[in-house]
Amino acid sequence: MRTDQDQPVRLADYQPPSWLVDTVALDVSLHATATRVRATLKLKPNPAARAAAPLVLDGDGLALQSITLDGSPLPAEAFSATPDRLTIAQPPQRPFTLEIETLVDPTANTQLSGLYRAGATYCTQCEAEGFRRITYFLDRPDVMAVYTTRVEAEKSEAPVLLANGNLVESGDIPGTSRHFAVWHDPFPKPSYLFALVGGALGHIEDSFVTMSGRRIVLRIYVEPGKEGRAGFAMEALKRSMRWDEQAFGREYDLDIFMIVAVSAFNMGAMENKGLNVFNDKYVLASPETATDTDYASIDAIIAHEYFHNWTGDRITCRDWFQLCLKEGLTVFRDQEYTADQRSRPVKRIADVRALRAHQFVEDAGPLAHPVRPEVYREINNFYTATVYEKGAEIVRMLKTMLGAQGFRAGMDLYFQRHDGHAATVEDFIACFADATGTDLSQFMRWYRQAGTPELAVTMSYDAKAKTCTLDVTQMLRPTPGQPDKEPMVIPLAVGLLAPDGRDLPLTRANAGPVERGVAVLTRPAETLVFTDVPERPVASLNRGFSAPIKLTANLTPDDLRFLAAHDTDPFNRWQALQTLASTLLTDNVTALRAGRSMRTDPGLIDALRAILADPALEPAFVAQALAMPSEADIARELGKDVDPDAIFAARTALRATIGDALGSPLREAYRRLSDAGPYSPDAVSAGRRSLKNVALDLLAASGGSAAIALAARQYHSADNMTDRMASITTLSQHPVRERQAAIDDFYRRFESDPLVIDKWFALQAAIPEASTLERVRELSRHPAFSLGNPNRVRSLVGAFAQANQTQFNRPDGAGYVFLGDTVLALDQRNPQVASRLMTAFRSWRALEAGRRAKAEAELRRVAAAASLSTDVRDIVERSLAPA
Ligand SMILES: [Zn+2]
Repeated sequence: MRTDQDQPVRLADYQPPSWLVDTVALDVSLHATATRVRATLKLKPNPAARAAAPLVLDGDGLALQSITLDGSPLPAEAFSATPDRLTIAQPPQRPFTLEIETLVDPTANTQLSGLYRAGATYCTQCEAEGFRRITYFLDRPDVMAVYTTRVEAEKSEAPVLLANGNLVESGDIPGTSRHFAVWHDPFPKPSYLFALVGGALGHIEDSFVTMSGRRIVLRIYVEPGKEGRAGFAMEALKRSMRWDEQAFGREYDLDIFMIVAVSAFNMGAMENKGLNVFNDKYVLASPETATDTDYASIDAIIAHEYFHNWTGDRITCRDWFQLCLKEGLTVFRDQEYTADQRSRPVKRIADVRALRAHQFVEDAGPLAHPVRPEVYREINNFYTATVYEKGAEIVRMLKTMLGAQGFRAGMDLYFQRHDGHAATVEDFIACFADATGTDLSQFMRWYRQAGTPELAVTMSYDAKAKTCTLDVTQMLRPTPGQPDKEPMVIPLAVGLLAPDGRDLPLTRANAGPVERGVAVLTRPAETLVFTDVPERPVASLNRGFSAPIKLTANLTPDDLRFLAAHDTDPFNRWQALQTLASTLLTDNVTALRAGRSMRTDPGLIDALRAILADPALEPAFVAQALAMPSEADIARELGKDVDPDAIFAARTALRATIGDALGSPLREAYRRLSDAGPYSPDAVSAGRRSLKNVALDLLAASGGSAAIALAARQYHSADNMTDRMASITTLSQHPVRERQAAIDDFYRRFESDPLVIDKWFALQAAIPEASTLERVRELSRHPAFSLGNPNRVRSLVGAFAQANQTQFNRPDGAGYVFLGDTVLALDQRNPQVASRLMTAFRSWRALEAGRRAKAEAELRRVAAAASLSTDVRDIVERSLAPA
């Protein structure tokens, strides 16, 4: 374990590096347990730093073999080398060449950071601080160098040898059974973007002609035999390359772009320059093995990593505090890409659902942090929904406020000004301020202040003056380390709907027409007065979710039903239904806990019936409208004294009511949407399947055996994984005999396919029944389960902790103990994945008293364990810190 990281790192302490690296020549001789790495660094003093500095290179678990300076061995008294640091106290204060040889053991590397083996394949993961596990280096993103990488290996073990950049040379090593390849990347990059791969891999190849007419070779490498499943990813790559040219004017720069899919990976994928390494879950797809959701994720993640070539690689982060500079921006870019490929409103709804489920929850608990944190103990714990998803919302707000043209002008200036550099959030925002002449200093608070702003709106109408007034107040609650907050800039997209559903023109008293329908709020309280409003309108607020806030408004149930039926903003049509459902559900949870009976809301049912009957609506939208708030959504709305059993009961009752009341239109929709013909993953077909399967699930929720029989029939006759997975998921929610038969059948069918077996584990971990914990314990001893594979851990333990609210939060605390035990067992092996699991406790303070005490006891038990990793200790201590 690294010990130097136990001291917090602070943004305020940032110093430019004392030394710069011009070029890095790496010579890596692959061996399963003793890989020799020779690094030749051309170093020079940084003119921007103070003079006569020692040279301190980062390491992590390294064994130094030899070191020379300008070709001469360095005497022992001239340097000191520990596993995590190499120091030369008095280096020459001029450019010089350092040659360092280290020995690393990729097979023993279970952290999957640095050089490791995924199955038999050698691969690397260097973000954030993995490069220092390969060689001693100035392992920080503001040290950008040109890399040349020679990789050598046994031909039989690793016939394919890849690294960043373009291939310059390859061949056999005479007299041996080994061969080599030399790759050169002309674009200076930070060490976290370094990658190499060696293995017996198959590949598919295609090409892309860029907007300036350059022909780029595209290759996707996979385990041999899986080439047939990489075609969709290749199409996604080509679409992404074209889209980035059209939407942002960004052209690809190297001669070749490669993606490698590996089976053991801590994250989703990694944007190494010219050589993206992917969790194979986000590359491999076939109709029989991947769901529509899998296809959509592959499309989005291929695009995301490709877009990083400009927002991340060519322009990188000055330091890790600026992580949102590349991630928030690139998530925004991939969201826009998907919105252009598919349905924009449906994409927005899905993104907002995810933002609320992950980021709002983070903001409301002990792990809340600003989009740009100011202190960290372990940077790996800051690859969070706040940095990524809220970071993307900030970029979206910029576009909303500045308009498409102003936004593009700011982006163009950013690319022009900072290409080839390591930049900060301030640099990024200055480009938009300069390009459009806008003062964005108050807007910067979105990066500095944690927490979700709460906006309260009261609408009133003056019939005599024909004015409509919105009184708006904003509030931001304290978060860890930030007791006092300042008002935020909130771009509030507003519509006023006439009784016939028309959008009324928006003119503000003394301010004229409202540009693009967006009022920009900046003060704790303000009043917006709209003139020439002929009759009492219904206000449609925060249209398209223009700001990532919690909104309350004096809208009546009638107003909400009106919006659900008539709003010209599709997002707010969906939101109105969610608000109605959420109000009903939280009321009923309260009623149940007080021993009172639950109420019904016939108006909500009528609104859902009307949505289901509206032929103008796309099926994917209707599916979103029929999907009620999740158990986690309801818990988040309640905010405190959360009882997951009461939430489950209230939600189950509502879904049964919907399935019952809308039985005949749901059955009709199911029939109408049951397509014959071959499977296609396109958005329209996927939308039809999603509505069909939501209908099936609601019908089953109403308790009819006919619906269970229908689900079982669909399971056995399905010709694609979407329909098969949807029907088995429906069956899994009910204690019926068809369930276990399907679970057993699923295993037999897909036994040899690890990605599908992940689904099998996750499905069982999410069953909302008291026996599930025992089932999960048993599955953790199943021969197909392994703590060594992150996808497997996430599919069983992650799904249990995140997707099974009632069983993870069992009143007896046994779910918490199981998670704690797993984290402790995994921590020494893979601290990144262990600490990610530990974040399942992030909302423990919001639980009712009994569960809260059990959760706290488990957190304290883990905290007291000997030799916790920095990663897990950081999460546990922040979770327990006094609120
Ligand atoms: Zn990214």
